[in-house]
Amino acid sequence: MPTISQPITKMSVAGRIAAALGLARRDPRRRRLVAVIECALNQNARDSGAASYPALNKAILTLCMQYDVGIVQIPCPEMRFMGLSRQRSPGKTIREALDTHAGCQSCRTISHDLVNTLWDYQKSGCRLLAILGGNPQSPGCAVHLEGRASDPGQLATQSGVLMRILQEDLRQRQIDVPFRGMRDYRPELLAEDLRWLEQLFKDA
Ligand code: SF4
Repeated sequence: MPTISQPITKMSVAGRIAAALGLARRDPRRRRLVAVIECALNQNARDSGAASYPALNKAILTLCMQYDVGIVQIPCPEMRFMGLSRQRSPGKTIREALDTHAGCQSCRTISHDLVNTLWDYQKSGCRLLAILGGNPQSPGCAVHLEGRASDPGQLATQSGVLMRILQEDLRQRQIDVPFRGMRDYRPELLAEDLRWLEQLFKDA
């Protein structure tokens, strides 16, 4: 399995000649990214009764625009596995349905495609700054840290099914970035998460 030690930037021969002659068009990209759960950018993906906004989380979007950070959207694992209506056997919770062999397989497919995309960005010189997950009760996207001193970023088992699989897959590719739940169900917790995110962007 390949690993990333240094971002690789590719330039064609024509590009190198143009650059040497001072003719190259300036590339304005800052090559910084975050991966954000689908519903933060489209609340219509949420289960009935779980939305916090009419359309999207404008605060996250505003910070990304202010600090020139691009966004990769993480597909909603619940929608992918159960559809928008979260169709499942009677009496089963969403977590019980998603945390099954078939549910985990579906999350693995999302994770596999996403990690390939993120890897591609990284090897082209872009930097992934963080994975922005969901509320603490989200079956697919909750972010809970184990709090181990030796590995402070390690997700705990009560995290969402997709987040756990995604961290494992990213780490296998030597991509070790912070995971943070953007807890929009409580304004004071979201404010805390946004402060964390702004500091991350300032330091990046
Ligand atoms: S599973 Fe994740 S992306 Fe889907 S609605 Fe829940 S928090 Fe949002």
